[in-house]
Parts: sequence; structure tokens; C-alpha cells
Amino acid sequence: MVVFECAGCGAALTAALTQVDRPDHEGIEWGNSTSFTPPLLADGTYAAQGDFLVAPGDVRGLSWIGYEGYCCGVNASAEPNLACACGRPVATRVDDCSFWQVVEFAPGAVRPVGSPEPVRPWEDFDWNGPSPEDGDLWWERRVEIAAGVAAGRVLRAAEGAPVSVPDGPLAAVFRRAFDEWRPPGGAPKSLALAGPGVTGEADLLLVPRHPQTGQAWPGGSVAVSAELWVLLARDVRPVLPRTGGQWADSLRDVPMPPRPHDVVPAHWAIRRVLREQR
Ligand SMILES: [Zn+2]
Repeated sequence: MVVFECAGCGAALTAALTQVDRPDHEGIEWGNSTSFTPPLLADGTYAAQGDFLVAPGDVRGLSWIGYEGYCCGVNASAEPNLACACGRPVATRVDDCSFWQVVEFAPGAVRPVGSPEPVRPWEDFDWNGPSPEDGDLWWERRVEIAAGVAAGRVLRAAEGAPVSVPDGPLAAVFRRAFDEWRPPGGAPKSLALAGPGVTGEADLLLVPRHPQTGQAWPGGSVAVSAELWVLLARDVRPVLPRTGGQWADSLRDVPMPPRPHDVVPAHWAIRRVLREQR
């Protein structure tokens, strides 16, 4: 596990953390005025990619230096808004309506110390799908944003060609979005899944990212979160808790708590990917 220290004074600024794949829904709002959006990352974890992201509850010894840039809370338009006790502005706290809560350390402001967890092999993770207990109220939103990001990246990788998908979960999630964004006409490029236990053959392969490091499964064209990949590969969805996590009681209900609706790629996530990478 690692602790992030202030690059200036060496003060410990987080709890001990382990690395996880950087979520696709980072920085992508959900809806309008959606209150109580949960933390982007689980407690005890961090994500990296140039900068470092942590859950707000895992930071230590930081003070507010500004509240500007907000709707109902604070957002990243006033960065940074948190300082170390030594006075250095080091991080930005985001907690506004429709935003996933997170603390983002500015590049170079902190350094990880300690021993990172060894990278676990791919087969260490469960690729068979979530169990009912894995469901939470935000599963659908995370997966729909991840699907939107994936759809945008596939359309980019197809370079303007229509994208064809086989019947099944890939078609259920993506076919309509692909047809809307690139109406059929011209030679299509085929899309298939590849990953743990799945060997696909197509023009474009959709593969999972390593849940710990975010590294893509070898040979893929577009890499998606493990959570989305498992849905596409196994067509297994978690059960959504009716009461915010009263599992022991919910699972005895008749009928059982609802499963999520069909996953529809978030259209604003598709647009954002296509715009960003133009
Ligand atoms: Zn400091």
C-alpha cells in the first residue's frame, strides 16, 4: 500500500491506499442537479494517470483555500482548492451536484511512498459476473457512462465506417448507438469481444482493462472497464438493492429486488469522446 506525501514538506496527505483502474465516469456528470452523487472511488483506493485521484474520506491534513466554482457544492473550476499544512496548494476537491465526489492531487504536488501492491494476474479476478450482493444503486450509471465512452472510442477506431455487432449483449448495448452515430452504408467493420476466456475474431476487439492497473488486455482495439466487459461477456447483472443496501432482508423478498434496465450508452459520454479526440 502507498501513502501520498506532500512533495514540499513530506507530510502524509492520505491514508494507506491500493491502486485501481481509473474509472471511465471520472469527470462525466450525471443528469442535472443530481444530489448525493457518491465518491468516484471506493475507500482505500486510488487511481493514477499523470495525476492521482482518491476518495475524499481518505485525505488527511488538508485545508480549504477556496470555495469558488460551484453550483450546489465545489467543482474543479477553482483548482486547486485544498492546501497542505505547509501552505502548498496540492489538490482539488470536487463535490457538486451531478459530479462524482473525488480529490484530485495536482501533478507533481504529491509523491507515493511505501510498497505498491504486487500486480495481480488476470485470473485472480472474477470474470464470471457480479453476484447479487455486488449490486449498488449506482451500477447502472457507471456502466452506462462506461458504455458511452466505449461507444465513442469504437466509433473513433472504426474511422467513419459503420460498426456491426453480433446478436447478444453487444448488440443489446451498442447496436442502436452505432447505427445512430454512423448510419449503415459502406463496408462495416465488425466488433467482437476478447478477454479472459473469450477469443474473438473481428476487425475491432473490445477487451477489458486490468482492474488494478488499468492496463488493456493484449491485442484489443478498445479497452473498457472490467465491470462493463463482464456484462458484455457474461450478460450477468447485479440485483439492485431496493433500500440502499439492506441485503439480508432484500434477498428474501418475493418478488426479488429489480434488476437494472437495459444498459443504454450515455449519449453525452459518446459526444464527449468524439469531441475530445477530434
Ligand atoms: Zn506540505
